[in-house]
Amino acid sequence: VQKIGVLTSGGDAPGMNAAVRAVVRAALSKNIEVFGVYDGYLGLYNNKIKQLKRHDVSDMINRGGTFLGSARFPEFKEESIRAKAIENLKEHEIEALVVIGGDGSYMGAKKLTEMGYPCIGLPGTIDNDIAGTDYTIGFHTALNTVLDAIDRLRDTCSSHNRISIVEIMGRYCGDLTMMASIGGGAEFTVIPEKEFNQDDLIQSISADVKSGKKHAIIAITEHTTKVNKLAKKIEAETGLETRATILGHTQRGGAPVAFDRILASQMGAFAVELLLQGEGGRCVGVQSNKLVHHDIIDAIENMPRPFKEDIYNLTRILA
Ligand code: ADP
Repeated sequence: VQKIGVLTSGGDAPGMNAAVRAVVRAALSKNIEVFGVYDGYLGLYNNKIKQLKRHDVSDMINRGGTFLGSARFPEFKEESIRAKAIENLKEHEIEALVVIGGDGSYMGAKKLTEMGYPCIGLPGTIDNDIAGTDYTIGFHTALNTVLDAIDRLRDTCSSHNRISIVEIMGRYCGDLTMMASIGGGAEFTVIPEKEFNQDDLIQSISADVKSGKKHAIIAITEHTTKVNKLAKKIEAETGLETRATILGHTQRGGAPVAFDRILASQMGAFAVELLLQGEGGRCVGVQSNKLVHHDIIDAIENMPRPFKEDIYNLTRILA
């Protein structure tokens, strides 16, 4: 391999820059040239491709977001659009592409691979919802951001005898909510993997309040329920002031924490190693503290993400 490309796609995540930097530096150390594709698959289609040198990734390890830019480009589902993208890559003599993103981005990489163009996927998303890896790049940074928010809410809700609902990102994965719930000492945890019974939740909170509880934190994953409506119902039932806080995009920003910088660096360098070994159509993960790689098609189509039942149980035991 003489020339490779790298892009970031889908929702951004802290540590994406560190991953791009690692791809660039690891490739250059093996005398492979690297080309950055700007704005994800949109830029791939529009031929926004530029060679990256060592210094183009200076001062990047600590920066949140992605300097390559990211975009949503649903048109990439069309084969003719992807064919043009492959043409652009070939025009630059780029032989393989490293795609850093979430499961949507993996779908794009899978389809390029099926069309004969080799891609390596790196899991970049705060949601931790990718198959074949215990952790994704960005998850731990978002977790710390959520914890910080919960700590702050705890200070004020314990001063004011208030119930606090915190809506946490994760799409359809409860990992961020469960881990933040344990780390932040939340009393109630509501996640997409477990059926949500609103009446049961309100009854348990009511019972706690009747037995003397003066404040509580309820951690809820986005898309589970309308948190402002829920707050009104809890307030009506318990008589305690109840507020919902939607953390939103604050969870996607910020400097990556040490774990994400190191994970991104390891995964980026590993992707280059795989390409050197002639591997294409793979996705990289970390499982039981070891770097691993899986067939990207198999990962998307067949690999289940095991639910962390022990973590969920712990949120209940410690509440
Ligand atoms: P994420 O990668 O964070 O899950 P998206 O789901 O928005 O984010 O996916 C990112 C991009 O990947 C999309 O905008 C689109 O360009 C591409 N993509 C998503 N799904 C597919 C698909 N089924 N086929 C081809 N490309 C896809």
